[in-house]
Amino acid sequence: MRGELKKKIVKRIKVNLDKCNGCRACEIACSAFHARPKYSSVNPARSRIRVVVDLLNDEYVPIRACDYTKAGCDGRRVYTINGKEYSECSFCGTVCPTRDLFKEPDSGLPLKCDLCEDDPPQKEPLCVQACQLGALIYEEKEEEEVEEEVKPDEMEIGLQSLVDRYGIQKLADSFVRMLQKN
Ligand code: SF4
Ligand code: SF4
Repeated sequence: MRGELKKKIVKRIKVNLDKCNGCRACEIACSAFHARPKYSSVNPARSRIRVVVDLLNDEYVPIRACDYTKAGCDGRRVYTINGKEYSECSFCGTVCPTRDLFKEPDSGLPLKCDLCEDDPPQKEPLCVQACQLGALIYEEKEEEEVEEEVKPDEMEIGLQSLVDRYGIQKLADSFVRMLQKN
């Protein structure tokens, strides 16, 4: 069900593909910022931004993790932009079962870009700060948006992905074992 129209600050990161050189500094900054404790490790496999690199095609596409989907799409299209060919997956931040991008390497839990929400707030998201070439551009704009009713939070999305992977019974058994240990 849809909610009311409300004014809110919409935050975006725009990408200038022509400026990205695939240095992957954005991946390093994101994974360090989201390490627990903060900055205690660097592991791009845990980053919520990944750079799709095709060296032969001179193709570098930074994409951020967005929603988790239970099934992959049927899109296998190819786009040609300024003479370069890009696969549809190069632009898609969806965490889907048909590829390993944006999944925690150990648990398989989906990762999602949170725009580096922090308290106190960062002046700009960490990936934008790390990008010395200006390929990532941060924008804040006031816009009218239809307020969604309750959205699943990050924990629910993570639990749902575990249910999809192992089944609810196995997950419930694991919870019971954990409760008994604690
Ligand atoms: S830091 Fe900037 S230039 Fe480097 S890979 Fe990321 S987006 Fe591209
Ligand atoms: S905005 Fe923050 S969480 Fe999102 S990809 Fe950039 S560094 Fe990672």
